[in-house]
Formats: sequence, C-alpha cells, structure tokens
Amino acid sequence: MEVMKDRALKLHFIPYLAAGHMIPLCDIAQFFVARGHQVTIITTHSNAKILQQSNNLRVHTLEFPSKEVGLPDGVENLAAVTDIEDSYRIYMGSSLLRESISSFVEGDPPDCIVADFLYPWVHELANKLGIPRLVFNGFPLFTICAMEAVKRHPIPIDAESFIIPEFPHHIAINSLPPKELREFLDPPLTVALKSNGFIINSFAELDGDDYLRHYEKTTGHKAWHLGPASLVRTTALEKAERGEKSVLSIHDCLSWLDSKPLNSVLYISFGTLCYFPDKQLYEIACAIEASGREFIWVVPEKKGKEDDDEKKWLPKGFEERNEKKGMIIKGWAPQVLILGHPAVGAFLTHCGWNSTVESVSAGVPMITWPIHSDQFYNEKLITRVRQIGVEVGVDEWNLSAFFETQKLVPRDRIENAVRRVMDDSDEAQQIRRRAQAVGKIARQAVQEGGSSYNNLTALIDYLKDLRYSKPL
Ligand code: UDP
Repeated sequence: MEVMKDRALKLHFIPYLAAGHMIPLCDIAQFFVARGHQVTIITTHSNAKILQQSNNLRVHTLEFPSKEVGLPDGVENLAAVTDIEDSYRIYMGSSLLRESISSFVEGDPPDCIVADFLYPWVHELANKLGIPRLVFNGFPLFTICAMEAVKRHPIPIDAESFIIPEFPHHIAINSLPPKELREFLDPPLTVALKSNGFIINSFAELDGDDYLRHYEKTTGHKAWHLGPASLVRTTALEKAERGEKSVLSIHDCLSWLDSKPLNSVLYISFGTLCYFPDKQLYEIACAIEASGREFIWVVPEKKGKEDDDEKKWLPKGFEERNEKKGMIIKGWAPQVLILGHPAVGAFLTHCGWNSTVESVSAGVPMITWPIHSDQFYNEKLITRVRQIGVEVGVDEWNLSAFFETQKLVPRDRIENAVRRVMDDSDEAQQIRRRAQAVGKIARQAVQEGGSSYNNLTALIDYLKDLRYSKPL
C-alpha cells in the first residue's frame, strides 16, 4: 500500500486556448513537476510552441479544427485574434476538441484531470473514468465569490451600480456586469462547483481568511491556492520566455531599466486582448507626458504595424521628446521580468488577474483600469480590500475586450491616479509599503513551508488518498 502512495501522480492538464488561461495553468503544472509528478499538457500544435518543456512534463498535441471554424492555419489562441467573431471561432474550435481530448484521456487515464472551466464537459469525462477533476478559471477566489454572490442574488436590471451581496466587505461597483457575460460564465461556474475543487493562481493571504471562509460557507466547495504561478520561474531567461517571444531582448530591457532610479518607472499594459480606440491611447500618452514619469508602455502589435497612422494615437513629436524617458513596446513584452525590476514603481493595468498577481508578487503598486470580464472584481480586491493600488475610475463594464470602450477616460484622471501612486505623498508611501509587504508574503507562499507550498502538499496527499481508496 505504502508503495502505491509513494508512486508519483499522473495528471492531465487541459488549458483553455487563451494566453491569460494557458500561461498560468502551465506554470502551475510546473509546480507539480517540481515535486516529481508526471504532467501531460493537452493542447493544439501552435499553442504547444509557447510551453516550457522540462523533464516529467509531456505535451500531447492535437489538431485545431481550423477549417471547421473558419480560422487561418496557426490561429489557435484568443490572443491571436482581433475581433469578436474570431474570438467566438476560437471558443467553437476549443469545444470541438472534446472528442480528440476525450479519446486521448480515455486511452491513457490519469489520476486527476485539471481542466479549464470553459471545458465543462470534462465533468462527465472524469465521472465516466471515475477520476477526480480540478478546475481552473484564472480568477482569484474573491472574484469567484463575487460572481457566485451575484448569481445567487441577481442585480435589478435597472440598477446603475450595486453592492456585492452578502460580502465580508462593503464593496460597491459602479457599473453592471453585462447580462450576456453572466449568461456565458454562470453555467460553467455552476458545473465547476461539482468538481473536486478549484485551483487558484494566487496565495491564500491575498484573498484572505474572510473570503476563504465565505467561499466554503456559501458553496461548500474546496479551493486550493497554489500560486502565484509566475514565481515558478526564477531565472531572467525563464521570466522573459513566458508566453510569446518577447519583441525586446533581455539585455536591452534590463540595461534600460538598470539605468533608471528605484521605483521611477511607470509600466503600462492592458494584457493580451486590448482594443482601445486611438483617442483613448492619445489620452494615455498625454497623461504619461503630463505626469513627467519615465515609462514602459506596451501597445497592441496591430498599432505598431500602422506606422502611417501612428500620429492618430500619439501626440506630435511624442517619441522624439521621450526617446530617453520611455519605451513603447509594440508587441509582446517580457512582463514578469519588467515588473520584477526595482526601477519599476507602478503598474497601470487592466486588472487581468495574471497581470494583477504578477504585480502583487513583485511588490509593485497598481493603478487600476478594468475593462471587462472578471477585472472589475479583481480591481476591488486590490484597491479596497488590500489597498495596494488606486483606481483610475472606470464605470463602463465592456462585454468583451473586442469591443472598443465608449467612454473616454480623460488624461487628467489618468495623470492624477499616476501621481497618487508615484508622487512622494504619505498616501503613495503607505500604498508602496503595503504592496511591498504583500509582495514579500507572495514570494514566501511558494517557498518550502509557505501557504501555497503547503496547499500543494495537501492537494497531492488528497489526490494520492483518492487513488488509494479507488476500487480496483
Ligand atoms: N503578457 C506578457 N507580455 C505581454 C502581454 C501579456 O508577458 O506583452 C502576459 C502577462 O504577464 C500575463 C498574461 O500575458 O501573464 C496576460 O494575462 P492577464 O490575465 O493579465 O490579461 P488578459 O490578456 O488575459 O486580459
């Protein structure tokens, strides 16, 4: 019996075809690999190229049904498309993978399946095989609690704002989650609650005891905080090679940052799916200049390609005036490497959870600008509960990243938020102190004896017990 308990676990990971889901889940897979367990990541050919290979980590690749859904060859990830129709095609394509994923898993059953919640059918597959299933959706527990609360206590349709119902903190949200978003997310969330538990890319201390207890009390479901996932990468190369290939070399990036004073640089990025109209980018550019801060600004690659149109989204002479002061990265940036540099003093972020928890891990205060999906809830955990960032003040909850935002956030509001975090005021210092303290806890969490490390040990033991108790 003991021999069986000691045998390494065999796990199959099935990430959703979006950078924001795939990158963290595959990093979490590496935590299991680091403990000697065998992981197989099941994904499509072009997505497999971004995965970090290592011993004990196998990648099983599948054909993406490009022709069936009408996408060009190689376009197999949400980050590679630029409109809502194509994003739907990625979703349809990922749903069509059900048969090929199921037949692979049935032919080689693991001890546990770890799948994204956007594959709710994995529930039936796991039941059929009699194996446990863990779910991942990339949200912090705070946000899952908020979504569950809104599901249980629907917001009146004529409301313009709402207080998250029955929450440990009084959290007001000045915009409503679109009905279509709730209709899209509620069913897979409900199926997720039938799994053996959620895997959370965060650490228990960030969500806090209030929300851990609230979750267990209101859902009776289990959640294992195993992150921050990005901290599995320790060398500069591993950090820089996370996700797509960076358009900037490690050397250029680090030598530019090395030349800047401590906490002086504002880092700006809105994730892998950002479609601000030109006039909004223009306001951001004006705010950066008015703040007088040094900066790294990541803009979507499509902007970089339209050199002739550049004047539309950049004030005249912006690049020449800021040649030494700032860097515009057109394309994929080595975000984790940048955030971890001591010169970076704040992050203007869309509050995608990965970006948020990466900033937390680096102890970098945030200026929050949520756009869609889970981001409005993530923002509140940062600004209201942990108080490690300030809000730009957005009240337009977009249905999708692929629709351009309608309400312009004016430059003075952006500049004020940047100053609140980066100037030398008491408020800024307190925010920075808190952010650094939380960052330290984040880094300890994944070390031996830390909360996420111990949660992983408990989860491994739990999965081994389930295997042990399984009828032969
Ligand atoms: N990312 C990156 N470089 C980029 C853009 C994004 O490394 O230029 C990474 C970022 O570090 C994060 C992920 O891509 O891990 C984006 O996920 P997030 O949840 O922040 O936002 P999403 O793109 O899903 O909206």
